Amino acid sequence: MSNFKVTNPATGETLTEIPLASEAEIKKTVQTARQAFDQGIWPRFSLAQRKEFLLKIAQCIFEHAQELAELETKNNGKPIKESTFMDVPSSAQTFEYFARNLERYLQPETVRAESGAESMLCYEPRGVVAAIVPWNYPLLIACWKTAQALACGNTVILKPSSLTPLTAVRLGEIIEEAGLPFGTVNVLCASGRDIGPLLCADKRIDMISFTGSTQTGREIMRFAAQSAKKQIMELGGKSASIVLADCDLETTVQANLAAIFLNQGQMCTAMSRILVDKKIAAPFIEQFTAKAKKIKIGNGLDPETQMGPLISREQRDNLLAIVRQAKKEGAKLLCGGNVPQDDRLKQGFFFEPAVFSGVTPEMAIFQQEAFGPVAGITEFSTEEEAVELANHSAFGLAGCVWSGDLRRAKELSRRIDAGIIWINTYGMFYNETPYGGFKQSGFGKELGKEGLREYSRLKQVNYDPAGQPPLVSNWYAF
Ligand code: NAD
Repeated sequence: MSNFKVTNPATGETLTEIPLASEAEIKKTVQTARQAFDQGIWPRFSLAQRKEFLLKIAQCIFEHAQELAELETKNNGKPIKESTFMDVPSSAQTFEYFARNLERYLQPETVRAESGAESMLCYEPRGVVAAIVPWNYPLLIACWKTAQALACGNTVILKPSSLTPLTAVRLGEIIEEAGLPFGTVNVLCASGRDIGPLLCADKRIDMISFTGSTQTGREIMRFAAQSAKKQIMELGGKSASIVLADCDLETTVQANLAAIFLNQGQMCTAMSRILVDKKIAAPFIEQFTAKAKKIKIGNGLDPETQMGPLISREQRDNLLAIVRQAKKEGAKLLCGGNVPQDDRLKQGFFFEPAVFSGVTPEMAIFQQEAFGPVAGITEFSTEEEAVELANHSAFGLAGCVWSGDLRRAKELSRRIDAGIIWINTYGMFYNETPYGGFKQSGFGKELGKEGLREYSRLKQVNYDPAGQPPLVSNWYAF
């Protein structure tokens, strides 16, 4: 067993040290979750009983909301306004939503075949779900996966990122407080390197729900292939925001700032490629850059802060390298892209939000996910060109369209090769609707009826009320 130092990215201080599970402990956790599924009571509870527990968890999250928001901000760096008004309430609401709807979504359905036979479709739990989550929305993504997996009757191994384990550990305690049977949810702090072979390849795990980088996703798929398990892969992105000339310019500028700079740009759906119609490019760029320069950088715990630190020194070094490369390739840096010189910010991993113009499709900044506050602006002349640019990416996670003409925006949205498109807005995830990417952004859905059902296995039970199916019963009747 080794210890991992959990750092406050705003100050560089160690918040705590967490023990990373040894090989033996990882195997024991798998055994506990397996046993809780095979012999425990959770998978055998009725849908109504599961509902009650999920509601209790939601209530406990609400009761601990302030504590969780502060913990998230200390560990991840995000502004307290974001953790208080977005991450924590959305986490509780996901439990609430699936509690209220699991009976509707998971009740067996009867399908009648044309022959008259009846098929009963049953949504059964899959077994043990390994939920592997990243550091950018540590609590929220943990709650999405845990709520859906539990709603379907699975037991769970929740593996947070070693950089941000604190709210996941607290969530584990909250779930215990809510009275779930022992072994139903197991929070496992372990190194990513170890859990590939020890968790993802283990036959006793039935499903992996992973959110993280495309590269790690590929590694996990290799391990998971050894026992052909069900997977959901929510991977990286390089999303495009298409700004048409007929948009409301002021609102569009404001919203595009949020679309790339919220959570320090560390969003899988960040609109890091802003495609702007040439006709309005000059005022758009001028207003966007002027506002980006004014973003208040600081410790996330300060309620005035609009942008906190990046998650780590390594992440900042990556971004500084991306900025250097973009300049070398000919993109024009309009602001930011540096380490701020303010003495208050010296110890943390702060970075001034960067805006580039003149970005072209062959540049690395157009193609590669930066996962930070770096916006690249590209101009286009026709809608055709805008669609081509938006789709010129290995990823296919999300997109935005900004226009005063809703019909036109909807038509354009259908031509963008991405799993989620926002028109004249950004970033809303609804518990009611399935979310997930295309291409190298992964496969499978989270949320909505479709996302929930990913965590169940579908069985058909057939019955023919006619009693005498013509072929089967008489085939050997001689
Ligand atoms: P990451 O891939 O480095 O890590 C994600 C998780 O996987 C962590 O818990 C990590 O410990 C674990 N891990 C690392 N190596 C592993 C291995 N070999 N086997 C098994 N698990 C391993 O990602 P990150 O840096 O934490 O997060 C950033 C990435 O996540 C970005 O690419 C971002 O786009 C993506 N992301 C995607 C979505 C989405 O919904 N599509 C949402 C959030 C983040």
